Amino acid sequence: MYDVVVIGGGVVGGTILRELTKYTLSVCMVEKESDVCMGQSKANSGIVHAGFDAEPNTLKAKFNLLGNTMMRDYAKELGVRYINNGALVVAYAEEERQALLDLKNRGEINGVKGLELLDKQKLIEKEPNISDSAVGALYAPTSGIVCPYELTIASIGNAMDNGAELFTEFNVCDIKKEQSLFCIKAQDGREIKCKMIVNCAGYFSGEIASLAGDDSIKIQGRKGEYILLDREGSDFVTNTIFACPSKKGKGVLVSPTTNGNIILGSTATETPDDRTFTTEMGLQEIQQKVGHMMKNPPMSLAITSFAGVRAYSHIHDFIIEESATVKGLINCAGIESPGLTSAPAIAKYVVEDIVSKTLSLEENNNFNGQREPYYFFERLTIEQKNELIKKEPSYGKIVCRCERVTEGEILYAMRVNPKAISIDAIKRRVRAGMGRCQGGFCQITVAEIIAKELNIPFDEVRKSGKGTQITVGKSK
Ligand SMILES: Cc1cc2nc3c(=O)[nH]c(=O)nc-3n(C[C@H](O)[C@H](O)[C@H](O)COP(=O)(O)OP(=O)(O)OC[C@H]3O[C@@H](n4cnc5c(N)ncnc54)[C@H](O)[C@@H]3O)c2cc1C
Repeated sequence: MYDVVVIGGGVVGGTILRELTKYTLSVCMVEKESDVCMGQSKANSGIVHAGFDAEPNTLKAKFNLLGNTMMRDYAKELGVRYINNGALVVAYAEEERQALLDLKNRGEINGVKGLELLDKQKLIEKEPNISDSAVGALYAPTSGIVCPYELTIASIGNAMDNGAELFTEFNVCDIKKEQSLFCIKAQDGREIKCKMIVNCAGYFSGEIASLAGDDSIKIQGRKGEYILLDREGSDFVTNTIFACPSKKGKGVLVSPTTNGNIILGSTATETPDDRTFTTEMGLQEIQQKVGHMMKNPPMSLAITSFAGVRAYSHIHDFIIEESATVKGLINCAGIESPGLTSAPAIAKYVVEDIVSKTLSLEENNNFNGQREPYYFFERLTIEQKNELIKKEPSYGKIVCRCERVTEGEILYAMRVNPKAISIDAIKRRVRAGMGRCQGGFCQITVAEIIAKELNIPFDEVRKSGKGTQITVGKSK
């Protein structure tokens, strides 16, 4: 029996789980996939938005600004890469100047600091590769970038280090409330009882609320496709560059990532499900729009494409409240962009302002918010590296040549919370397979390391979840 069960292992569930462990509560997370960070939180732009885009007086506006202010310290505590690189919304025609002014005014109402209108000359000084058709820009110095999977995984890992439990492949299919306790059932028959539920199931948060008896939430999907460029093109832009937004969202952006790639995207297409395949049309749209925004984008450096599905609510704002019909059920639904930015602020609010109304919060004096980053090895001096390699020779063996990831780092990712047990889970933690060859060279070695570490036959090693084994047996 738990005090609180968090349903959904994305960034919202992850930051809430961590916040809960600051108190002496028994808490756990259930996630339907084989690893955490498999929903929207793994496939987004990774922008820590400044907060000028959201409609004033919405939850999006409120939590965007708070989350943006918290992100630097939050990421630092958890060893998560964050860069305050700034953002530019660019006008590509005189008629768009008014849109920049409107955004500036809206941002100021939302409380965003330092917004500034730039003329063409100042814009070119900041971004020499901007298209000749640009006429000016809105500059937002508080905008940043963060690695979304590092943020999610580190939050959950740190929560686990502080006592939270994680149950993966726990696909919630039934929720019953008897007297004051919930009984949450998984498809495979497992059951968990708790006093409170925090529903952070992303695209499925409406369905989870319905299972518990609250039919008030309707969620729809809007797909965003991306193209990722190799690190060789890392100096193409410094700021995150947006065109003027439309009704469907912020439009296509060009941005550095915290790992030195350049991300281009995303599209915004209504979708009836949460499938994340990319399309020829979507990728062409990105190329065409980026071609309009920038001079000579280095498209030959494209190494992969991917997509995420924004889960937006029928009220087009975040829903963060205790259910009006089911006491003890807290819904965090419709958390589309800027949900990544907002997550640390949402977590604080959910625990301090909502959970606290039902459960008494006593501080956990043993809480330790610090976490060793997965990339600790690359930060060591040559002497420190040699010292470690002497003790643990696996750190001397490079497995992923593109991203220079060692066997030691892969084993580390398999041993710390939340433990990686598949090829993709390792990729998200230490970047083996994220580089130019996309795992072409290292995937088999990574699979061999997994088989050995988990003591399983090679043909049981999975790329991701159930049924994703990469081999079927020996041919010779
Ligand atoms: C294309 C795109 C671009 C974006 N760009 C940005 C950006 O630049 N900046 C920003 O701030 N935000 C951005 N966002 C928004 C941000 O990614 C989301 O707001 C955030 O990731 C939502 O997190 P979540 O935890 O609510 O949902 P998710 O990450 O989707 O997590 C939900 C989890 O619940 C699990 N789950 C679902 N059903 C069940 C079940 N029955 N049982 C158990 N588990 C279940 C899922 O498997 C999943 O892991 C973007 C989103 C998209 C899609």
